[in-house]
Amino acid sequence: MLNIEQNPLLDFSGLPRFSDIKPEHVAPAIDFLLHEARGVIEELENQTLPVSWNNFVEPLEDTTEKLARAWGIVGHLNAVVDTPELRAAYNDNQGKLTEFWTALGQNLALYQQYKRLHASSEYGQMSAARQKIIQNALRDFKLGGAELDAEKKARYAEIQDKISELTTKFSENVLDATNHYELLVNKVDDLKGLPDDVLQSAKSVAEKDGKSGYKFTLHFPSYFPMLQYAENRQLRETIYRANATKASELGSKPEWDNSELIHSILRLRKEEATLLGYQNFAEVSLVSKMAESPQQVSQFLEELATRARPFAENDLAQLRDFAREELGIDDMQAWDSTYASEKLREKRYAFSEQELKQYFPEHKVIAGLFRVIRSLFDVEISVEQAETWHPDVQFYRITREGKLIGQFYLDLYARNGKRGGAWMDDARSRRRTADGIQTPVAYLTCNFNEPIIVDGIKKPATFSHDEVITIFHEFGHGLHHLLTQVDDLSVSGISGVEWDAVELPSQFMENFCWEWDVLQHMTAHVETGESLPRPLFDKMIAAKNFQSGLQTLRQIEFSLFDMRLHDNLDIDAPNIVQTVLDQVRDEVAVLVPPPFNRFQHSFGHIFSGGYAAGYFSYKWAEVLSADAYAAFEEAMASEGSTLSRRIGEKFQREILEVGGSRPALASFTAFRGREPKIDALLRHHGMAA
Ligand code: ZN
Repeated sequence: MLNIEQNPLLDFSGLPRFSDIKPEHVAPAIDFLLHEARGVIEELENQTLPVSWNNFVEPLEDTTEKLARAWGIVGHLNAVVDTPELRAAYNDNQGKLTEFWTALGQNLALYQQYKRLHASSEYGQMSAARQKIIQNALRDFKLGGAELDAEKKARYAEIQDKISELTTKFSENVLDATNHYELLVNKVDDLKGLPDDVLQSAKSVAEKDGKSGYKFTLHFPSYFPMLQYAENRQLRETIYRANATKASELGSKPEWDNSELIHSILRLRKEEATLLGYQNFAEVSLVSKMAESPQQVSQFLEELATRARPFAENDLAQLRDFAREELGIDDMQAWDSTYASEKLREKRYAFSEQELKQYFPEHKVIAGLFRVIRSLFDVEISVEQAETWHPDVQFYRITREGKLIGQFYLDLYARNGKRGGAWMDDARSRRRTADGIQTPVAYLTCNFNEPIIVDGIKKPATFSHDEVITIFHEFGHGLHHLLTQVDDLSVSGISGVEWDAVELPSQFMENFCWEWDVLQHMTAHVETGESLPRPLFDKMIAAKNFQSGLQTLRQIEFSLFDMRLHDNLDIDAPNIVQTVLDQVRDEVAVLVPPPFNRFQHSFGHIFSGGYAAGYFSYKWAEVLSADAYAAFEEAMASEGSTLSRRIGEKFQREILEVGGSRPALASFTAFRGREPKIDALLRHHGMAA
């Protein structure tokens, strides 16, 4: 029997004890912490003393923080060093935690205690951060249905259950329809134009089925190269049609048709909104976002569309001309545009990703990234020894004038047992405790190629420019978490930041990857040691905004469609979803898909992901990040570099340090001295007037 006192998951005194933690520690630690938390909550529910921050919010934060930290370690390990034992421990305990957090979100007694605290005389004396925490709690209890009477609460719970069932079914249908499809091509002559690695993999997929020839599916890495490279127009049309109709009434099997599910989901969301006292689901979605109303979002999108339209029309005209003159395609169709675009891109900006990659060895990229951070935010970053979960993981500390600010783990390489993608996660958040300041700790995780050994010599890993952008992006989230100066847990770092503003620091950091000054210090050719040559840099910049007008309009089309579906829509009108989509396309699209296109039937972001009435967040946050970055570009004019400590200090103080302690708009306005403007985003995409 394991002794609770020796369970390393219950040791909160310092950094996680990665070398001691074993799968068998998970269940006892989580059970112990859940039991403890339930005891604390029970006491807080029944508390009859005047409620105060110290006797109510603080003990609640203490107990839930421990649970979140211990479970955070388990979740992190499950993502980066998955083993059958750990996965089993993770899955066995996950349900207990979901149940706990759901019950906490609907706990009427706690909600009432928050209301008492809000009405108390103490509230007026509290810091802005604490007031914000209480406002957020009241908002979230209300949105969780805590305020409804018993009958409505039951209906609310039913709706949640049903939505969760239908959205799961939606994505299963998309997946089944995707998996079921196959296009078998026998003659390699029909596949002219496709790169060797694509052919190779299509061949091995066919072989796995015991077939000869080349098998293509509707999975992105399979069908997209077909659209991009196949010279055979008939084949492109075949796979385009299959992909554009999957999981619809025009698709392969009626049981995978998502039409009815889409209607039911929209109807239930509307009912949920009505129960909670809102006119429509778009309003519910925006309560916890920076955008204020569906009208404001629509206006934003329509304005952006108006500005992007001439550029998109120009992109399209050039593409049509090119297709006609160089490819002999007189009537460019939906299945031709990807192919023609790729050919045009190759012709215009002759350089390869592979060539560029040779200039970005790992040590140079990391040093270049740290140089940017050091220059902007006046901090030092140094390697520190700590226990980790894998020998390749590095640990660093961030200090200013010798004083510890935060620490982070950097896990760069892909390996077996590690989940794909790149992300930032918190291991510990900043807060003030009885013992002083608890400094924040972050996990920064990527999946890049590791160094290879050639003839006994270790060659440094090299990164593509996209990967360099990725690491800057994740460090933007990391800085938001690590440089915070907020003393209260629930709004320190990225906690409590509005969903449509959370990508501000991350997208902001990406911009530095396109600066000559930054790149010169961040590149050294693996063979020659030479930094990035100017002609290659110029080609990169020229290619950056290829067809950005068309791409912008496409994002707006998705965003407007999403907003209008969740705004005041007569969901029972015949064929309403297609009608709304057609109207949106009439208004904004220049490259209009064919009438059989049923993209909405696999629009998982809004029908099975978390983006319902929120797809606009991508563009919304980009306005903020581009406009914030423009302040650094302005500094370049007077200071000769975008790495301005003067502006960096302001960005740090007004945006990074305050975290979620005030509305994102207030932070942005404090930084920029005005509300956000769309101009910088247009300029960065080559769409300035
Ligand atoms: Zn991000």
